[in-house]
Amino acid sequence: MILIFLGAPGAGKGTQAELLSNKLNLPHLSTGDILRKKLLESDYLSLKLKKIMDSGDLVSDQILNEIMSIRLNNLDCKKGFILDGYPRTLMQNKFFHEYLEKNKKSISHIFDLKINEATIIERIKSRFKTENREDDKTEIINNRISKYFQETKPLSDHFSFNNSDKYHLINGNQDIEMIHQDILKISRN
Ligand code: AMP
Repeated sequence: MILIFLGAPGAGKGTQAELLSNKLNLPHLSTGDILRKKLLESDYLSLKLKKIMDSGDLVSDQILNEIMSIRLNNLDCKKGFILDGYPRTLMQNKFFHEYLEKNKKSISHIFDLKINEATIIERIKSRFKTENREDDKTEIINNRISKYFQETKPLSDHFSFNNSDKYHLINGNQDIEMIHQDILKISRN
């Protein structure tokens, strides 16, 4: 089973992907977490990545595709996986699509978490207090939201148009458990 989470920053992708990963026993692949782990290596590449991520910009498609092609080849992905934060652009999706074709796999469901902008800002601000993420600072949030509209929203539109049978728009303004139940019901169908 291959599941994809889409949504603006703060929409709850990570929380929902983790809950579902525990329930369905599938690996949760968060590109944000993978990149943040990479930052700890403090080599030249990670310093470059830190600058990009702290500014709220997206890391290049080439780097993400390279990271994911390695990660998706891991044995734990054989029976399926949950993607949180990838693909995030049309270019990444093209690469991912080629991976699927080459490996004779297909997407099971795409969950697009939709929340209003006021809720996004409120959630990210409260996450900043607990996780202290540099890119959750108020002045960076706006750039992340605008990158979402420029780069990721077109991908949502692409999926809703071309994969309408697998694409599910989820009301992300509900509380965590209700969203989880909505998603679980669809995944088990
Ligand atoms: P996230 O934890 O998903 O909000 O990601 C945090 C940051 O990591 C983003 O603002 C980007 O700088 C970077 N990032 C994560 N996933 C991707 C991706 N698929 N493509 C480009 N940049 C990414």
